[in-house]
Amino acid sequence: MDHAATTATRVEVAEAMVPYMTGHFGNPSSLYDLAKDSREAVDAARVQVAAAIGAAPKEIYFTSGGTESDNWALKGVAFAKRSKGNHIITTAVEHHAISHTCAWLEKQGFSVTYLPVDRYGMVDPEAVEAAITPETILISVMMANNEIGTIMPIAEIGTVARKHGVLFHTDAVQAAGHIPIDVQEMNIDLLSLSGHKFHGPKGTGALYVGPGVRLDPLMHGGAQERGRRAGTENVPGIVGMGMALSLAVAEMVENAERVTALRDRLAAGLLAIPETYLNGHPQKRLPNNVNVVFAYIEGESILLLLNRKGIAASTGSACSSASLEASHVLMACGLPHDVVHGSLRLTLGEETTEADVDYVVAAVAGVVQRLRDMSPLTPTELRSK
Ligand SMILES: *Cc1c(COP(=O)(O)O)cnc(C)c1O
Repeated sequence: MDHAATTATRVEVAEAMVPYMTGHFGNPSSLYDLAKDSREAVDAARVQVAAAIGAAPKEIYFTSGGTESDNWALKGVAFAKRSKGNHIITTAVEHHAISHTCAWLEKQGFSVTYLPVDRYGMVDPEAVEAAITPETILISVMMANNEIGTIMPIAEIGTVARKHGVLFHTDAVQAAGHIPIDVQEMNIDLLSLSGHKFHGPKGTGALYVGPGVRLDPLMHGGAQERGRRAGTENVPGIVGMGMALSLAVAEMVENAERVTALRDRLAAGLLAIPETYLNGHPQKRLPNNVNVVFAYIEGESILLLLNRKGIAASTGSACSSASLEASHVLMACGLPHDVVHGSLRLTLGEETTEADVDYVVAAVAGVVQRLRDMSPLTPTELRSK
């Protein structure tokens, strides 16, 4: 129930990777035949990733994951366009790979606007347009939110960005393989992907860089990735990521339909628990995301008790759950601080069954009741008789 944190590498993907660690282990930059196999495998994966988002293969750059892609897009544009302006527009609900990078860029003298969102976590394209100044060099808005699953109006924001001649980056890490992506139709200039969020291997990612986009390198060194991203290619990882993404996209429509039905069954089951509220947009949300808050109790306690029942779930974002910080996403949606702490994120996967969903609903209902019985905040009518 935590597929937004990571997914298992598909068996056929792992099997396709093995030959590139053993037999075909050549360095793609070398000149002999063994290297040619690796080079061709990387090129084939580039074609697969490009096809999945409507890009040309030469516009795809392989990275070490979503975090690197986000860092590279923001820092790369910021430093390449420094002489043109110093203003970046983003939202208050981005992944930390974006928001912490923006905070660092502010320390380097850039100015960042963090746009507010509505109660569903949605940013208004008109607010994006209104925030543009002659100094604006980049807009970065995530395609789908990793905590609450809300799908942003990316095509509308792309239109605004293009109209004003401002570069547009989107973190599509949670969206890829779940909803259709077309960088041309959506007027996207830069787009981040991460392999392990769509049943590919961990430590793999890609950045799409559209035609004519000037971008400083993040990694300096050799001439790999056409001189823009140094470092010997992670050939097995790249092979796995390419295959995982093309499989995810090929199966997307069928999978989304099945998972959406499970999601709705799960949400209905949880919302039947008294004083439980759905976070994120009721319709414009990822097919696999359910995020709810339960009044009067703490998300961390829910997780610990669910773990004992063999259920892996998340509260707030996985990256901040060790710090017990209140979710910046739920706060931005206007939820009060005490309520934010009672949030639970459940994210389904292609292997999730109806029986899993029913087991989880029953387990959560039991856990919530137990914690409410223990909480001094719980009103009498919600306590067990
Ligand atoms: C997981 C995630 C990232 C980070 O990707 P990694 O490959 O784990 O570095 C970035 N953005 C979003 C929205 C994510 O969900």
